[in-house]
Amino acid sequence: MSMKYQNHIHGEWVDALSGETFENRNPANWNEVVGTFPDSAKPDVEAAVKSAREAFDKWRLTPAPARGDILRRVGDIMAERKEEIAKNMTREMGKVLDETRGDVQEGIDTAYYAATEGRRMFGHTVPSELPNKFNMSIRLPIGVAGIITPWNFPMAIPTWKIFPALVCGNCVVFKPASDTPLTAATFVEILLEAGVPPKVLNLVHGGGNGVGIPLVTHPDVNLISFTGSTGVGKSISKSASETLKRVSLELGGKNAQIVMDDGDLDLALEGVLWGAFGTTGQRCTATSRLILHEKIHDQFMGMLVSAAQKLKLGDGLKPESQVGPLINEDQQKTVQEYVEIGKSEGAKLVTGGNVYSEGDCAKGWFHEPTIFSEVTPEMRIAKEEIFGPVLSVLRVGSYEEAVKVLNNSPYGLSSSIYTNDVNRGFQAMRDIEAGITYINGPTIGAEAHMPFGGVKETGNGHREGGWEVYEFYTETKTVFVDYSGKLQRAQIDNY
Ligand code: NAD
Repeated sequence: MSMKYQNHIHGEWVDALSGETFENRNPANWNEVVGTFPDSAKPDVEAAVKSAREAFDKWRLTPAPARGDILRRVGDIMAERKEEIAKNMTREMGKVLDETRGDVQEGIDTAYYAATEGRRMFGHTVPSELPNKFNMSIRLPIGVAGIITPWNFPMAIPTWKIFPALVCGNCVVFKPASDTPLTAATFVEILLEAGVPPKVLNLVHGGGNGVGIPLVTHPDVNLISFTGSTGVGKSISKSASETLKRVSLELGGKNAQIVMDDGDLDLALEGVLWGAFGTTGQRCTATSRLILHEKIHDQFMGMLVSAAQKLKLGDGLKPESQVGPLINEDQQKTVQEYVEIGKSEGAKLVTGGNVYSEGDCAKGWFHEPTIFSEVTPEMRIAKEEIFGPVLSVLRVGSYEEAVKVLNNSPYGLSSSIYTNDVNRGFQAMRDIEAGITYINGPTIGAEAHMPFGGVKETGNGHREGGWEVYEFYTETKTVFVDYSGKLQRAQIDNY
């Protein structure tokens, strides 16, 4: 039976003011309605921002370690409910259960990290240039944080943003992706149960136009943290500049794995299968380009194609499934369009290429794992983010050429190189243009306590995760205490 869910505004669970709703369906079986959610609009956003603004004065004065303690309880509850949350996540967005469990675990790890960060939030103390004067910098909350998230990590990404926002003393208006509202609703429930004061955290379901734009343009929202596509990120950057908001953008990728002639081919094979076809290729860090040294190209292609053909597609709730469905019909069409583009550009389709609808997959948005070889750097399938199980393979003759091909991308999120030459490994750390580089590992696999983000059109320079994200959610205040009892003029009296 499908459940009806609500927004959370002003400490209450409420429908959209218009009464409109939308359905959330299972991408592995489009007949299954997972839930019905409010299709909200500007007036709902205005109410949520008002609530967050009202709650700010009290929340900012709650000691940071006490705010952190609440997040520790959030982590505990998430751990208790991990299996149930993972199963519901698979139902609403399709990735296989092992991966949805990992998504929840990343949220738990992020909670425990955030809990202790409430006891750090370091400032600096620095000598003054004048006698009897004390200089320091302290970190203060900013105000109301607008949080806009994509559907592919329905728990991990909201936790990356909302935990640091809260522990730093900000209030939150959360707009989750409309493909994954159930995980978002559960997440908010848990935060409230753990003790986040009701008005501090507000949840507004709905689409980008109805909820996203009003949130980004609202004058009382002080900052926006957005993860999603580069196109939407650019439009947010423009519209947020009208009110001079602080904006963190985590956007698309076209990540590549290099395999050198001295790399461990079995290891590199496991890496690329996991990187390219895990989450059905729908990760911002998915491996969508494979750059092979010519000396191992043919051998590796043989290994790769036969392994890719053995991958088992199916409903992610079934233990034997390795590759789940795409998120929706539009994404399936996009993948099919890119298969046609690849063929028309002259790349060689070596496996896959079709929608998959055998047996239990007949009512889901499945697509075969697909590999193109003989791809050249100027082809669209080598440049554009496809966000599906499509891998483009390029052939190179040297390390220098491999790095040049890898860097020939508008994006710069994750990257990987398989080599047993330690010198090459260190050169790659230096030469590859990306926010993340793995040596002898696939392009995917973030850890909660490490900075996460990309260069070029993958973002605007901020990082999620680890210690760096806490900078984004705080304002630095510089404080001078003059205990000399007289006027002391900096730059003048001492020189
Ligand atoms: P999307 O850009 O379509 O949507 C992301 C969110 O923005 C959703 O909540 C959506 O409703 C909202 N939105 C849409 N239009 C908006 C607008 N004009 N103003 C404000 N909000 C708006 O992305 P998606 O399809 O949900 O996710 C896939 C994309 O996200 C891919 O490009 C992927 O690479 C990227 N992604 C990046 C990272 C990262 O950390 N770099 C992580 C995961 C996903």
